Amino acid sequence: MEIKKDAQVGENGAPTPEQLAAINVQARAKLTADQVYVFALRLCDDQVDRDLERFDTQALPELARLFLGKTGIVDHRWSSDAQVARIFATQVVQEDSVHYIKAWAYIRRGEQTREVISDIEAGIKKEVSVGCAMGKRVCSICGGEYGACGHQKGERYDGALCCVILREPLDAYEFSFVAVPAQCEAGVLKGMGPGRKSLKALAEEFGAQGEYRALLSLAQLGKQYQKALEDSVVRLCLTLELGAEEPVLRSILSRAAPEDLQKLKTALEARAAEVLPLAPQLPAPGRKNPVVESGFLI
Ligand SMILES: [Zn+2]
Repeated sequence: MEIKKDAQVGENGAPTPEQLAAINVQARAKLTADQVYVFALRLCDDQVDRDLERFDTQALPELARLFLGKTGIVDHRWSSDAQVARIFATQVVQEDSVHYIKAWAYIRRGEQTREVISDIEAGIKKEVSVGCAMGKRVCSICGGEYGACGHQKGERYDGALCCVILREPLDAYEFSFVAVPAQCEAGVLKGMGPGRKSLKALAEEFGAQGEYRALLSLAQLGKQYQKALEDSVVRLCLTLELGAEEPVLRSILSRAAPEDLQKLKTALEARAAEVLPLAPQLPAPGRKNPVVESGFLI
C-alpha cells in the first residue's frame, strides 16, 4: 500500500456507492446504503507513545492491510454482541512528519447500535485503542534487538532519546472504542505486542495442549457448579416466598460471585430450616398412611 497524503476526510454518515461496495466485500449479507453508518477513525501512528514505543513508519502499510475486515468493540468486552463496527477500508496518511493509519468502518443501523452511533456523532466515542502483534522490537539508538543491546527506553544517549521501534506486523486483532479519552497526543491508545495471543494459541505454540484442555474442563465444571448453586438459591428464594419472581432472581444471581452464592445459600437454608420444618416425604416404617375418605366428606 502506498503512503498517501490525506486527500479525503470522509464525512460520517451514509456510505458513498464506492464505500458501500467495499462494505459488501466484508459483510455477510448484502447491505444497502440506509442500513449502514460509516465513520472514519485514526487507528495508530508512527510517533513515540506513552510506553516509549512507536510503530515503524515502514510497517504502517502492512498493518493497515491487516486491519481490513477487523471488528471494533465497545469497552473491550470480547463477545460477538459487543462487536459493533467493521473496518472496510484503510489508508496510510501523512500529515507533516506524522504518518498514521486512517480507517473507515461501518456499523449496521439498528436498535442496539443507535446509542453507539449517536455517541460517535457527538464525538464521545472518538478515541480508540488497537490490538495487534508485531514481530520485532528494535532499539532506536543502535538498531539492535531491544532488550539485548543494553540501551534503556526513556534514557538519553548523546542527547537522543531511546525508544522501541515496532516492526514486522504479524496480525491485527481489533480496535476498541474507549470511554476515557486517550492522554497521548495522537488520541489513540495502543494495546499491542507479541503477547497479545489467546491462551489456546499459546498452549499450541508451547506444546501445552493437554494442560489447556484440562484447565478448560475444570472451567466447565466450575460453570456447572455455579449454575447448580444458582438453581438452589432460586429454589430456596421461591420456597421461602421472598416476593421476587424467578427472572428477577436469576438476573441478580447470574452476576453474583460463587462464594457469595454459597454464603447466600447457607443463610437461606438456615432460614428455611427455621420456618419450614421439613415433613418426611415417606411414611416412617410401621406407620400406616392416614386414610382420607374424602368421598364421604361433606
Ligand atoms: Zn540499543
